[in-house]
Amino acid sequence: MKKKTRGQLIVLSGPSGVGKSTVISELLSERTDIYFSVSFTTRQPRVGEADGVNYHFVTREEFEQMIANEELLEYAEYVHNYYGTSLKVIREKLDAGIDVLLDIEVQGAAKVRAKCPDAVLIFIVPPSFEELSRRLHRRATDQEEVIQGRLRKAREEYQQICNYDYLVVNDKVSAAAEEIIAILTAEGCRTKNRMNFVEGV
Ligand code: 5GP
Repeated sequence: MKKKTRGQLIVLSGPSGVGKSTVISELLSERTDIYFSVSFTTRQPRVGEADGVNYHFVTREEFEQMIANEELLEYAEYVHNYYGTSLKVIREKLDAGIDVLLDIEVQGAAKVRAKCPDAVLIFIVPPSFEELSRRLHRRATDQEEVIQGRLRKAREEYQQICNYDYLVVNDKVSAAAEEIIAILTAEGCRTKNRMNFVEGV
């Protein structure tokens, strides 16, 4: 099989509580050839999170320096913290023919769309908005006003769904991961992604 020349940039977004991280873990266990981009953030690490694994945790000053140096493909401010994607790492992987997955929120996704029109944008939703509320309440780690804030944010994020190429429903994690794998398979079969098979004919 001829190796493709460029990797596929994949953007995954979805509201807090939809189970995005679990779907991503399932996806990456099936598609071990995908590189998951570790973002930079100014937020504090949560219990169990490690620097360089979940995020690169940096100070506000360090982040602003990265913005000034144009080191980020995209960045956004989300709930009082910066989040951003390293341009250098992404470029290296894509140039090497490796698919790259970004887990980013809607403002960042819009910036990726503008800069990289070939990126595949996928939004993950729960089976219903009521189910999202149930999932956020079930976590029981947050106070009611925090949960209400997340639901408000989710409503705002839903307004951006029309800018995404695909909508995946996370009812069952394995089924959602399978849908994403099917999307990526179809994207890989696009004529423009297969021209290396017909060149020189
Ligand atoms: P959390 O703090 O829960 O890990 O992430 C909050 C939000 O930031 C999530 O919606 C996540 O997708 C988003 N996010 C994580 N990394 C990035 C990034 O590099 N850029 C942007 N724009 N959003 C990010």
